[in-house]
Amino acid sequence: MPLENPHLDSVAVHAGREDLAMLGVHAVPLDLSSTNPLPDIERGGASYEAMATGGRPLADGGSVYQRLWNPTVARFESALAQLEQAQTSVAYASGMAAMTAAIIASTSFNGKRHIVAVRPLYGGTDHLLASGLLGAEVTFCAEHEVAASVRADTALVVLETPANPTLDLVDIAGVVAAAGDVPVLVDNTFATPVLQNPLTLGAAMSLHSATKYIGGHGDVVGGVIACDEETAARLRQVRAVTGGLLHPLGAYLLHRGLATLPTRMRAQQATAVEIAAWLESHRAVERVHFAGREDDRGLVGKQMTGPGAMIAIALRGGYEAAARLSSSVQLFTHAVSLGGVDSLVQHPAGLTHRPVAAHAKPSANLVRLSIGLESPADLMADLDAALSGASVPAARTADSEVRGYLSPEFA
Ligand SMILES: *Cc1c(COP(=O)(O)O)cnc(C)c1O
Repeated sequence: MPLENPHLDSVAVHAGREDLAMLGVHAVPLDLSSTNPLPDIERGGASYEAMATGGRPLADGGSVYQRLWNPTVARFESALAQLEQAQTSVAYASGMAAMTAAIIASTSFNGKRHIVAVRPLYGGTDHLLASGLLGAEVTFCAEHEVAASVRADTALVVLETPANPTLDLVDIAGVVAAAGDVPVLVDNTFATPVLQNPLTLGAAMSLHSATKYIGGHGDVVGGVIACDEETAARLRQVRAVTGGLLHPLGAYLLHRGLATLPTRMRAQQATAVEIAAWLESHRAVERVHFAGREDDRGLVGKQMTGPGAMIAIALRGGYEAAARLSSSVQLFTHAVSLGGVDSLVQHPAGLTHRPVAAHAKPSANLVRLSIGLESPADLMADLDAALSGASVPAARTADSEVRGYLSPEFA
């Protein structure tokens, strides 16, 4: 970047493209090679070894094999790191592959196997941590219980802010202080690097489900962790060995998504602010969850530059009203996921947070809205019609049936 202190908007457009003019191209090259020609056994082998242990390819050895290194993925990683004010970043096949790698990298190199997880978390993360699949022991707690939950063998503290689905805010610097020497991972998916940079607040890792805002168009699944070089080496080693790598086409699309990320975030956020205010006085709505709505610590404005574009609403009509809303919307799509240019609605207790233990599950009358780029007036008209749900028969499932799904593992 030619300027000394480029604005985030300029970084988003130009990061990871520094060498394009020199290459004589204008668009980012997409390298789909699964394997790469080797110079000779010794130099290829040395490069292989460097990458399999978390390093970068050696200049004279090549990148050997796509699971170890891919230049299109590396470009996206470099661009994302610039937006996160991080030394580097490591990309994965999905947000959950990234979370898995972070847990393995944290619990496999120092004999510590305990994780402290601040609830609420995305249902898939909660599921992964509660399942014991990765052999870690997990203590779930509230934000104020972190200091008391940390032990001598704690390897990692995991938190999400704003949290999925209730938009609860967690004070990142506060948790970092409470965690002491233990590294803190922040799931930054809802805020994106545009609104929040957890590493500047002392977090060790900032994780994104890139599937959401970073991609932004609902057509790519990926994950990425921004961190320092030392952490990245362990994360890359886990990726190289376990194989949760991001496909280069996914990296290409995510990199392209970065260029419009600040503009999309601001536009979607402005619409969300308008819709959240309108929902406050809607007769069908019991409570609006929106980042910063009950923010007595002033975290929006301090830790985050804005509230983002996710809203959750608790409906007066309970589960039946939630089911009616979900099946009546016309402009919103009833679908899981979030952060794209089109607006989505989904029911956390029944879908994204279905595997979460009963006492930690979102309430059955809660519906989550991901606000897109459509006209605010059209979105409100759609919601208003769906909330009245006049022409749609009530769904039959009772609240108890939604809560009733729990495999013995989670009950
Ligand atoms: C979707 C999501 C994830 C998981 O990401 P995938 O790309 O679906 O694997 C993790 N954290 C949050 C907050 C999410 O919304």
